[in-house]
Amino acid sequence: MAVFVLDKGKQPLMPCREKRARLLLERGRAVVHKQRRAFRRRRRSKNLRYRAPRFDNRTRKAGWLPPSLQHRVDTAMAWLERLSKLAPITATSQELVRFDTQQLDNPEISGVEYQQGTLLGYEVREHLLEKWGRECAYCGTGDTPLEIEHVVPRSRGGSNRVSNLTLSCHDCNQAKDALLLADFFATDKGLKKRLKANGLSASARLERVQHELKHPLRDASAVNATRWALLTALKATGLPVTVGTGGRTKYNRQRLDIPKTHALDAACVGVFGSLHTWAVPTLTIKATGRGSYQRTRLTKHGFPRGVLMRQKQVHGFQTGDMVCACVPTGKKAGTHTGRVAVRKTGSFNIQTEQGAVQGISHQHCTLIQRGDGYGYHLTASINL
Ligand SMILES: [Zn+2]
Repeated sequence: MAVFVLDKGKQPLMPCREKRARLLLERGRAVVHKQRRAFRRRRRSKNLRYRAPRFDNRTRKAGWLPPSLQHRVDTAMAWLERLSKLAPITATSQELVRFDTQQLDNPEISGVEYQQGTLLGYEVREHLLEKWGRECAYCGTGDTPLEIEHVVPRSRGGSNRVSNLTLSCHDCNQAKDALLLADFFATDKGLKKRLKANGLSASARLERVQHELKHPLRDASAVNATRWALLTALKATGLPVTVGTGGRTKYNRQRLDIPKTHALDAACVGVFGSLHTWAVPTLTIKATGRGSYQRTRLTKHGFPRGVLMRQKQVHGFQTGDMVCACVPTGKKAGTHTGRVAVRKTGSFNIQTEQGAVQGISHQHCTLIQRGDGYGYHLTASINL
């Protein structure tokens, strides 16, 4: 077998025999430029061209959610099950989407004037508020009453469809009047002043409005995976499920003149006639977990900072239990009710509705309820 030979300038010379190449190497007259090992290495990979990849074979099940989101579905379902055991639940309602995008973009309905007070009006308004971040689409001013605005003016043939609507402050709405979008941005001095005050660039703002017009329902139609997963889970219970939209919730709430709280919003979901005795205290439930498996506390750099005690119970109490502490004397005198955090010393912290109370002796504590992974507190009803 012949061996290829290069000179000092890497120009090819006549090939020599293998024996002669080995002699030259031995005498230090030649060096190895390229080894056969490189070719041998190829044997390890040369038969893999049409083989299916061994990696890239991990698939996620249909309907998989990240654990942080799956937990929301699981918690909702756990409480549905708990409540079903205590009360005769016959149906469920879910706020599935913020806006009914189908209804919004349906040209049949789009002929309707968008007024406050109609269900569709609420859907449209909520959608626009969300889309423009509750500020004027033109000048970016927040904290001001916003008016629904036609981008292409009605007088110039602009439609009532949601894709032609934005929100603007009163000043912008008045100034724009029958102007076209580009003309308004190019000429209006008041707008320029307001944009400058809000630290925004006119060209970027114009571009954004134009961009949003081309993709009117893109954000809104992005499927909220968690809500759909919850709907699937609710349907699986066999109970009848009705779904509503965020717009309908708000419509119901304002129709019945009910103030906005999380709990009352939940009561206003879906289709119903009226709501009786809603001014009642609310039990707020928070998923708190049952403590952590890890016993070593770490600093933010990941170094050990301290070690938690092995046993979970101290003097019969455990972190997460609901306790009532009656302290007769001293700075902490009084009655404290809430979730306890135990310490080995027997000096506990109690998370009450008003805030944390620290350093309460176990001797003053009485157990109300064992910790079950949830924190509870009663919120007083809203007085009108
Ligand atoms: Zn404005």
